[in-house]
Amino acid sequence: MSGPVSVGMTVVVPCYNEADNVEHAYREIVTALSGHDLEVLFVDDGSSDGTLACLKDLARTDPRVQYLSFTRNFGFEAAFSAGYRYASRPWILHIDADVQFPVAEAHKLIAAAEQGRDAVFGVRETRYDPLVRRAGARAYHFVARRVLGIEIPPGATTFRLVRTELARAIVDLRLGTPYFLATVPRLTNRYSTVPVAHRARERGASKLNLRWLVGHAMGLFVGFSNRMATVASVLALLAAGLAGLTAVGAGTGLLGSTVVTVALLYVLLTVLCVLAVSVRYLVAVGASQARPALFYIREATIPVDPTDRLMVENVGVPS
Ligand code: UDP
Ligand code: MG
Repeated sequence: MSGPVSVGMTVVVPCYNEADNVEHAYREIVTALSGHDLEVLFVDDGSSDGTLACLKDLARTDPRVQYLSFTRNFGFEAAFSAGYRYASRPWILHIDADVQFPVAEAHKLIAAAEQGRDAVFGVRETRYDPLVRRAGARAYHFVARRVLGIEIPPGATTFRLVRTELARAIVDLRLGTPYFLATVPRLTNRYSTVPVAHRARERGASKLNLRWLVGHAMGLFVGFSNRMATVASVLALLAAGLAGLTAVGAGTGLLGSTVVTVALLYVLLTVLCVLAVSVRYLVAVGASQARPALFYIREATIPVDPTDRLMVENVGVPS
């Protein structure tokens, strides 16, 4: 199988309100990867600043630059998934618009990929993000890997080099919880991690707020492991068992005071009701909600599938 050096790469750059970063990112990408057969595919995730205008300028001056622009902000996973879906080269290099991973570090990923890998993930040697992010990430990796047994390449980040065939297969699964890091190990065992440098964001603020990060973590915990559901079932069975024992205790006079017995039964009744309603909501109501697609594209420099387009203004349509 051929590595990224010989067959070329699409650099996918998700952008949400990154007008201050787009041009810096572009310059660093083309400088650090000069000599490679490149496509640079920016995905404008419904930005409300001048991101799209910057992308248009770049696409006008450099034929290696392409872009997709969404009809609204669909979120980080949607943005990179669209990039992965429409990458034209056999390998994808994912670079965030703020280039917190210096692009030159990609050579380490490329060298590892040349050893016969399907995916190579950068792992930060030292992480330059706020303390709460660092601590939160550690806790969530611990819960995912150790408590819930979800296979994720340890320390893996979005700075990654992936075979396009693999990335596209994952996007095409159209998972309710598109969690790339946890899906790769389900499709291949030829992945590895490489230590890479990291730096603080220099322009603009992080676009991933705490609420999103918590929701993202819950999506992983619930979508990629059955253990939370098992814990809920076991809890319900324990509560039912305890209720039975309490009833027997009350009937045989072993539980002296009726006040204690009644209180205990009320507690158990509440626990069982909460669990029953949760299950009803999760399974019956939650599962039957219609979902819109992960993303809709309004404008692009490359052809996109009719199902991914909406209110098209300027999409390159195949003849
Ligand atoms: N991003 C996006 N859509 C969003 C949020 C973020 O496309 O809704 C992009 C963002 O522009 C950046 C990348 O995803 O290129 C990672 O975001 P950020 O750097 O804010 O994340 P952090 O480094 O704080 O984890
Ligand atoms: Mg960042």
